Amino acid sequence: MVGVVSPVRKTPALRLTAWGDPPSLADADVPEPTGTEVLVRVEAAGLCHSDLHVLDAAPGALPYRPPFTLGHEIAGQVASASDSFAVGDRVAVHGPWGCGTCRRCAVGEDNYCDRRAELSWSGAGLGRDGGMAEYVLVPHARHLAPIGDLDVTQAAPLTDAGLTPYHAVAGLTLGEDAAVVVIGVGGLGHVAIQILRATTRARVFAVDVREDALALADRSGAHRTLLTRTDTAAVLRRESGGADAVLDFVGSDPTLSLGARILRPGGALVIVGSGGGQLTVTKPGPLPQGASVSLPFWGSSRELREVIALARAGHIRVETEQFPLSAAEEAFARLREGRIRGRAVLLPG
Ligand code: NAD
Ligand code: ZN
Ligand code: ZN
Repeated sequence: MVGVVSPVRKTPALRLTAWGDPPSLADADVPEPTGTEVLVRVEAAGLCHSDLHVLDAAPGALPYRPPFTLGHEIAGQVASASDSFAVGDRVAVHGPWGCGTCRRCAVGEDNYCDRRAELSWSGAGLGRDGGMAEYVLVPHARHLAPIGDLDVTQAAPLTDAGLTPYHAVAGLTLGEDAAVVVIGVGGLGHVAIQILRATTRARVFAVDVREDALALADRSGAHRTLLTRTDTAAVLRRESGGADAVLDFVGSDPTLSLGARILRPGGALVIVGSGGGQLTVTKPGPLPQGASVSLPFWGSSRELREVIALARAGHIRVETEQFPLSAAEEAFARLREGRIRGRAVLLPG
């Protein structure tokens, strides 16, 4: 029967056991929910570039304390009943988990938990056991969003590759003829383009260093795609008339510099990528007058429901490459080599 699990049964989980070690498939106990916790049987878990940043982090650079199971983009079936969900309900997991009690967490904005600096985790698979496993223990049913008949291989990446750009775009005010430049058309970037097309009237420019990423940008609805070259800033300035917003899904020195150079006065530089680049903010300085710089992180549980609704209405389609959990190593290697088209999704079980 669905939902009855033995607490002694072992199942494979992709674990980060120590800083600097590659992730390894280990035998983990099927966790037993207590209190408000809900057990979810994972059917799909997306692989994010942030997972690579976590693996590459120097000891102490992140507040997480290994060992923990990776995987912060999760969809599956409820395996233990709660007040709001029954066993077998199809759900996506809102991955940012905060303290659970501050004013932000109280309204589902765990991504901006007021106690974030005190916590040793950011969420599922980021300091806490995540979804690259057959089961994940979710702290509270408030982190679950129903997905209806949406495919789990869509729902899982929507929880981050969809939610993060959705939140970033929701923070922008874009007029009728706005120009938006998307830098980096991978997992997040290609969904960002679709969200911009579905929810704004903006002209969308997409930039990447890979030809196949530009083909993906094209399929995702970008009006213009450009391979990064020495004249990219000049071409973008000329063709866009200056960007009202730049969504940087890389965040390296060259992309931050490109973003600053193509921004229109009053424009918004939105840094989503965690590439570790630096941008000097001085006044006057590299940014045009009136510019704003933001560092959005993930999104709220309300926004997750909205992005799921957009996908169910047919406005967003994540391009995925699927791997069994046992092939996680290959999926990680291919993401590192820039050989994933769209999002890699791992399938446990
Ligand atoms: P990805 O690997 O799927 O895509 C990155 C894309 O950027 C690739 O297409 C790559 O070719 C392109 N790229 C690399 N260098 C470039 C350059 N110099 N110029 C133009 N394009 C370049 O990665 P992803 O999973 O989409 O994640 C993107 C970034 O966003 C990562 O740094 C990740 O850690 C970060 N991230 C942040 C949040 C957040 O909440 N802020 C959430 C998820 C991911
Ligand atoms: Zn992520
Ligand atoms: Zn909180």
